Amino acid sequence: MNIKNYINGEFVNPVSNNWLDNYNPSNGEVYSQIPNSSTEDVAKAYQSAAEALPKWSNSTLEERSRILIKISELLESNLERFAMAESKDNGKPLSLAKQIDIPRAASNFRFFGNAITQFASESHESVGLNAVNFTLRQPIGVVGCISPWNLPLYLFTWKIAPAIAAGNCVVAKPSEVTPMTAYLLGEILNEAGLPKGVLNIVHGLGTTTGQAIIEHPNIKAISFTGGTETGAHIARVAAPKFKKLSLELGGKNPNIIFADCDYENMLATTVRSSFANQGQICLCGSRIFVEEAIFEKFKKDFVQKVKQLQVGHPSDENTNIGALVSKSHLEKVENYVKIAEDDGGKILCGGLEVTIEGFENGYYMQPTIIEITTNDCRINQEEVFGPVVTIMSFKTDKEALQLANNVKYGLSATLWTNNLNRTMQFSQQLQTGIVWVNTWMLRDLRTPFGGAKASGVGREGGFEALRFFTEAKNVCIKYN
Ligand code: NAD
Repeated sequence: MNIKNYINGEFVNPVSNNWLDNYNPSNGEVYSQIPNSSTEDVAKAYQSAAEALPKWSNSTLEERSRILIKISELLESNLERFAMAESKDNGKPLSLAKQIDIPRAASNFRFFGNAITQFASESHESVGLNAVNFTLRQPIGVVGCISPWNLPLYLFTWKIAPAIAAGNCVVAKPSEVTPMTAYLLGEILNEAGLPKGVLNIVHGLGTTTGQAIIEHPNIKAISFTGGTETGAHIARVAAPKFKKLSLELGGKNPNIIFADCDYENMLATTVRSSFANQGQICLCGSRIFVEEAIFEKFKKDFVQKVKQLQVGHPSDENTNIGALVSKSHLEKVENYVKIAEDDGGKILCGGLEVTIEGFENGYYMQPTIIEITTNDCRINQEEVFGPVVTIMSFKTDKEALQLANNVKYGLSATLWTNNLNRTMQFSQQLQTGIVWVNTWMLRDLRTPFGGAKASGVGREGGFEALRFFTEAKNVCIKYN
């Protein structure tokens, strides 16, 4: 089958008629083709967005809200179909796509459909000067949204929903590795009555289609989620063109475990925060630091639990760990296991590919735990983004904090303790955009989301996203 671009409310072939293969990671087979879109396709998408802009940016908040909530409802009523498509395209367990990915994509539209009706701007009375200032929050215009493959529809919609809620028109590109659900979304947009051209979806490689979006002179803002190197490249291209940028990038997140924590809750959550979605979540806690007093016990219990995780076909109900997203990614992750071993790491479990009967060419790998003794090794400094975690012990609070912060990334951190003072000290001193205490990935969509250091620039989520997707204009009125 052929996936098509969605431009001006219609499904169209790429101008060049060039196509790319799309793989099913569970069996390694090509199962569809996607447009290898060029600058011309992006230009058409831009044109359509620009034509839709005057009307959409002047639509009432009620109208935008109604359409966004309708999209959300249609996603919910198509949950099964979308979840199956996501699981097939990405390799993630079907159960995960049903419970997390698609419901969250629906929530993104519902949340921003509601949020836009509550979004307000400030006013400042200049007392003694006979003047009043107020802030207009106007749509930016045509904006670009570019997303990665790990949570395909979840992250695609996390950008698109606030962008259109704020009155912008959009040229969006999902990852070429997982294009399917973004393609299916087009049908829903039409059914929900989103006016033609408000959202245009172009498919293709980052280096061609993505590059055409970031270089486009009239696409005025880019919201990007993906790797740190790509983010740096986008910043270099966009900065001289003065584009507004939101960059959500890689992570190498610490999971810091103290002896005074609620042990069973910590253990169960740590299994999830290590290996959910095959460890391919930017928020996974891939560096586990454990207080010395419970290190040996934790090591034994954690390895035992992880060995019970079932690697299997994504649609098998018993599967905990599905397929990795691509062959090249599987090879990258395996290579990191070798690097860790060469650097003195000790593999406590996993480390190998898994062959699933009937799906011998799929990209499966065992969940892997590596014990290390120094945080400076490559496995603890570079993002692996797969089912691989390291564990290491620490003695003091000071040492734990140093270990956690001694990395170029700063997306999220998880802390396990029941000590209030420690909680506050770590919350203040961890160099990350998000700190979870005694939980992981508990998300409230109103909260600011994003990373510090090499994990990104800017925050999305809640009103932060609506602020990003609007231009603030101060109006100062003098009166007598
Ligand atoms: P990637 O950077 O390779 O690609 C992300 C997107 O950017 C894709 O759509 C790709 O086609 C596009 N792209 C690539 N080169 C481009 C260019 N020159 N111009 C414009 N677009 C370009 O990342 P990936 O491998 O798809 O995703 C994995 C990465 O994403 C990991 O580093 C992970 O940590 C990160 N991530 C971050 C968050 C977050 O919220 N911070 C969330 C999920 C994933």
